[in-house]
Amino acid sequence: MSRMKVAVCTVGCRANQSDSSRLVRHLHPELIELVSDPQSADVTIINTCCVTAQAERDCRKLARRALPSGRVILTGCAVSANPGFAEAIDAKAEARGGGDRDPRDLADWLNELATGCRATLPSPFRPEHFDVTGLLGRTRGLLKVQSGCRHMCSYCIVPKARGPESSVPLEDVLADISAMRDQGVREIVLTGVQLGAWGKDLPGRQELAELTARAADVASPGRIRLSSLEPWSLTEALAETVAAYPGVCRHLHVPLQSGDDGVLSRMRRGYTSRDYLAAVDRVRRRCADVAIGTDVLTGFPGEDEGAFANTMDTLKELAPAYVHAFPYSPRSGTPAATFADRPPRAVAKERVLEVRRFGKDALFAYRSGFVGAERRAIIEESGDGQHRALTDNFIPVSLIADDAQTGAFVDIEFTGVAPDGHVTARKL
Ligand code: SF4
Repeated sequence: MSRMKVAVCTVGCRANQSDSSRLVRHLHPELIELVSDPQSADVTIINTCCVTAQAERDCRKLARRALPSGRVILTGCAVSANPGFAEAIDAKAEARGGGDRDPRDLADWLNELATGCRATLPSPFRPEHFDVTGLLGRTRGLLKVQSGCRHMCSYCIVPKARGPESSVPLEDVLADISAMRDQGVREIVLTGVQLGAWGKDLPGRQELAELTARAADVASPGRIRLSSLEPWSLTEALAETVAAYPGVCRHLHVPLQSGDDGVLSRMRRGYTSRDYLAAVDRVRRRCADVAIGTDVLTGFPGEDEGAFANTMDTLKELAPAYVHAFPYSPRSGTPAATFADRPPRAVAKERVLEVRRFGKDALFAYRSGFVGAERRAIIEESGDGQHRALTDNFIPVSLIADDAQTGAFVDIEFTGVAPDGHVTARKL
């Protein structure tokens, strides 16, 4: 009896990737065959993103490519932020679920759909607590522990798409982590829409620091990495936890967005450039080697030459391990989309290039500071004695070693950094 062929395409952030993995893990293997190419699928699921205009374009393109082959179901943020999103692509495109709705509901619907075209019912099915489809590469697994955001930054459509903040209870998170550990996942990335808000909606207003510490205990011998965190989430307690637990990666990604207080205020970010640097300093005072990565949005309304210069000055003071830069993309339905004084797109793009040039030098400087130092790394890929590994402070290294297996932790010594930031190391 042939199974229904389903393709699952994901656009956007780690929260979306984690939702897709939760959907996939609840598809009944007797009923559904997962295929990678939408053009050979009976049903294609597109888990959409609407955080930028480019992301929406990518979703529309995926849908148009898949429509000739079968049913196309759009879910995710673009659908919940704009209920007419699917129909606007094509009358045959369907919208289901999305936002903060549980992806397992969509899986149940697909299982039912697949059952519909069978004579016999499938055997009972209990999805794995976690399965390898939720992996980043072969050693790292994503685990979404929080959803929603109530912060309302003026440029951001996410609160509209994802709804109010909600946290996965501590015990459920720890159960997922122990299942991932038992399946050989060596690094677990805790993710959310506003990760730092984890626990605030749970009884007793629990804190991310506590979750991170408990997670590190359960994940051992594996390690825990925290995905993107807003600056106001860098509490004393979290800084203590990152410093005290060897099983917590010394890597924090903390979006700055702008280094100009006037622009930050128009963004309704809720902090100044001084506040941001003070928050990072809270962590650095406890672990000076922590890798701080950041995001910058250029071309936001009101960002004149002086404001952009303030952003570059703040970045220089921050001395990040790396920087991601994007040109501001107005999202309809957000307050900022109506703001005046937006610099021309070409100027925004030029500023992105300037930030990226700075970022390249900052990355080289950060990594060069470790040459000669020793560190723990996880082997992510290996073949013929050549291996690619990742340190806790988010430095990918190439090393030559005869006896290193994918997923193994190894002690390394950094031996060199190339001008493009490529790092070599030797196994100790
Ligand atoms: S904190 Fe701001 S940027 Fe982040 S998801 Fe919430 S509203 Fe969006």
